[in-house]
Amino acid sequence: MGPLKPCGDVRAVRSVLQPAGLLPENPEGVAVTNTPAEVEYVDAVVVGSGFGAAVSAFRLAAAGESVVVLERGRPYPPGGFARSPAEMGRNFWDPSGGLYGLFDAWTFRGLEGIVSSGLGGGSLIYANVLLRKDEDWFVHRSPVPGGGYEDWPFSRADLDPHYENAERMLGAVRYPYADTPKTQAMEQSAAAVGLSIQRPPLAVSFGPTRYAQAEPNVAVTEPEYGNLHARGRSTCTLCGECDIGCNIGAKNTLDHTYLSAAKHHGADLRTLHEVRGFRPLDGGGYEVRFVVHDPDDTAAGASSRLLVRSIRCRRLVLGAGTFGSSYLLLRNRASLPGISPLLGTRFSGNGDLLTLLMDAHTDAGAVLPVRGDRGPVITTAIRVPDAVDGGAGRGYYIEDAGYPGFLNWLLETAQLPEVFSRTGSVAWQLLMNRLFHGQRSNISRDLASALGDGHLSASSLPLLGMGRDVPDGVMTLSEGRLEIDWTLATSRAYFDRMRSTMEQVAAAMHARFQDNPLWWAKRVITVHPLGGAPAGPRIEQGVCDQYGEVFGYPGLYVLDGAAMPGPVGANPSLTIAAFSDRASEHMLEQSRPAFVNRADAAQAPGPAPVSVPAPAPAPLLSVRVPGGTSLSFTERMRGPAAVGVTDPRRGALVGRTRGHSIMFELTITAPDIDAFGRDPLHTGVATGYVVCDVLGGRLDVERGWFNLFVHPAGSAGRRMLYRLWLRDPGGSALTLVGYKEVTNRAGFTPWKDTTTLFTHVLDGHMPPPDPLTDRAGQAAFLTPEDGVRAAGILRISPAAFARQLTTFQATGAHAGSALLDFARLFAGEVAGVYLSTRKTRDTD
Ligand SMILES: Cc1cc2nc3c(=O)[nH]c(=O)nc-3n(C[C@H](O)[C@H](O)[C@H](O)COP(=O)(O)OP(=O)(O)OC[C@H]3O[C@@H](n4cnc5c(N)ncnc54)[C@H](O)[C@@H]3O)c2cc1C
Repeated sequence: MGPLKPCGDVRAVRSVLQPAGLLPENPEGVAVTNTPAEVEYVDAVVVGSGFGAAVSAFRLAAAGESVVVLERGRPYPPGGFARSPAEMGRNFWDPSGGLYGLFDAWTFRGLEGIVSSGLGGGSLIYANVLLRKDEDWFVHRSPVPGGGYEDWPFSRADLDPHYENAERMLGAVRYPYADTPKTQAMEQSAAAVGLSIQRPPLAVSFGPTRYAQAEPNVAVTEPEYGNLHARGRSTCTLCGECDIGCNIGAKNTLDHTYLSAAKHHGADLRTLHEVRGFRPLDGGGYEVRFVVHDPDDTAAGASSRLLVRSIRCRRLVLGAGTFGSSYLLLRNRASLPGISPLLGTRFSGNGDLLTLLMDAHTDAGAVLPVRGDRGPVITTAIRVPDAVDGGAGRGYYIEDAGYPGFLNWLLETAQLPEVFSRTGSVAWQLLMNRLFHGQRSNISRDLASALGDGHLSASSLPLLGMGRDVPDGVMTLSEGRLEIDWTLATSRAYFDRMRSTMEQVAAAMHARFQDNPLWWAKRVITVHPLGGAPAGPRIEQGVCDQYGEVFGYPGLYVLDGAAMPGPVGANPSLTIAAFSDRASEHMLEQSRPAFVNRADAAQAPGPAPVSVPAPAPAPLLSVRVPGGTSLSFTERMRGPAAVGVTDPRRGALVGRTRGHSIMFELTITAPDIDAFGRDPLHTGVATGYVVCDVLGGRLDVERGWFNLFVHPAGSAGRRMLYRLWLRDPGGSALTLVGYKEVTNRAGFTPWKDTTTLFTHVLDGHMPPPDPLTDRAGQAAFLTPEDGVRAAGILRISPAAFARQLTTFQATGAHAGSALLDFARLFAGEVAGVYLSTRKTRDTD
């Protein structure tokens, strides 16, 4: 038997399996391969449509590149944002739960995060502030607890021309109204305590054109590139609804600006298209795998049944946001073996802290109507300098955070004791009238008092702080789900300073300062997540370079918040947009990357391309044989394992230190228990899944083989063999091979031997040994050397084994005796090993 080679031709494997009687149910459907004519090729695929993605889509399309934007969320034309309680209740993004809405809320250890899902990304729900990152806050070699440095590989001067481009496209202007109560209150309070305050540029249409006189609710003049929604927009009415989507189109969101311009230049914007994976192609370019959601299908689990489609491109731009792009990179790690080990690091919540000022008063003691519900969400920004630019500690901004008028009702009713006493008096009056036929039928006065005078909502104002917290959060997968290890502790001094400044502002307004309740649980909520695929000068210091190109993967770019190597400090969208503008310009200056299998790339475009289903996984082997009695059981094993290690024992040691593991849950079936008993290799079929977080989380078993006991030649020992063909979401093939060594070398150790699996994960799909030429299964004993991705040792715990015993099932004519036959076979083989006087050969 020659060395094991990855198998590219599934038909070859079929011929190997045929003699064993394990045929697929649909032999013609084993492998579906896209022919070159079917595959859709474009110059660039852009994932997401937020700040980084939209800017890049526009720049590339305007330069004549063919661009496809894949955005998971829906389009939101003016008037399309939810407002009713029923609509709001479903306005979240979780397709697995049948939700296809705007808000994507995450919870992690130590923090919560809110991002958006929709054409235009975070711009749909953001507060429009477009501040440039402070020049000195592009720090260098600033130590990060846990190792390494915050080190920005580009400077303010590098970004300045691109800041200007983005400000122009987004129509940034300063808040023009002089009589807005919260703006006045912020400006007066800041002056009273000597803080520097400004009106930051806002991406809002206050007048029909950028510098026109402000006037509420008049038509906005569309730019020459038109508007993809083809609906009229109106100027800002100061309703405070920026963060739940502007229904009159006054916000200059990315759909109204960059994405409309990109479309005008030919970009193909596809909504409800969610990218699941991608992989580099031999010879250049990337294949991107995605699903298309049907928002009318609200059944739980609908999204897991969607057909996976694919598209190929020269350049792949990840702009799925900090959570989205980091998750995609972590999830497709098996397709990206050379990616920097810094993947997942430098996470920061941009120092976000939300607090509340309640019950503001004038110096004379009258209620100060700060009216948080009036004006766009943010109108002012207090800046507190950093140690690097003349301050002490880490610098930050504090901004007024308005809210929609209707939330005043919530604020009023949130004062529960007061509300109970007010509504209680109404209830009491109603009861008295009912019991004693009271003379007062008009209860207007009571109702009015129940509603209160509204002074609380009128005199309260949320504050949003943000700044240079410590970017020491680490994003990983945990059982396949995104996890962030972040703690408030390392940024405590920063947060304490910011809170004391907020208290000063509160004092200047004679208001009560109130933390949001999360603070007391040592948690924060961030709307500005950053990092995970940090830019750096070289692969030891970052995942991508200063232009967002991933080290080791030419043509793969991260152009969104994930690429920020630390907190931006100010609101980050403009910096993300400028970073993407600069990177896209640089991309266009380079020669176009090669395109795999694309001899006709330079030819004139033919008919409109269509996306095609990704190559279908090989169907599982049939687990039924006509007339036979089948037996199955489910086995769950787990154990430490490490990537980059070839020996399972060493993999287990390293994996234990790093906290890395492999787990699988397999249903093992003997399709015909009689044939299974007669077969010297006792071959069964394995179905199920593997979870290995450092290889991208859950990997479904496309095809699996199991051999109960195989005799190594010249030995009294036995091996139980496992071989699982896996595929990561990007389409890269892997094989898990494992064996349990049943031997009497160390005495009577059947429990240990039959529950310990020495495991390798290999590149490619490795075929099982040919049962005709390798009747003793010798090939399975070859220890792989090439293409080993990971190794470790998996075990079954006694509890899992007890559960496994309950999963045995037999179906067919002789179901009653099948279990007994299996038990006899198992016990006989085990007895053969341990009762043998011959010592087991040392096969390791
Ligand atoms: C309430 C609120 C107020 C804010 N106010 C401001 C502000 O005033 N100023 C400011 O600068 N910032 C503000 N922000 C933050 C700002 O929205 C983000 O910093 C910014 O949007 C990040 O841009 P991005 O390019 O990284 O990604 P995003 O804008 O988050 O875009 C990512 C896009 O990718 C899509 N996506 C994700 N995964 C996939 C996938 N697998 N396949 C396809 N598509 C995918 C998402 O649906 C989304 O559309 C605010 C945020 C919130 C929540």
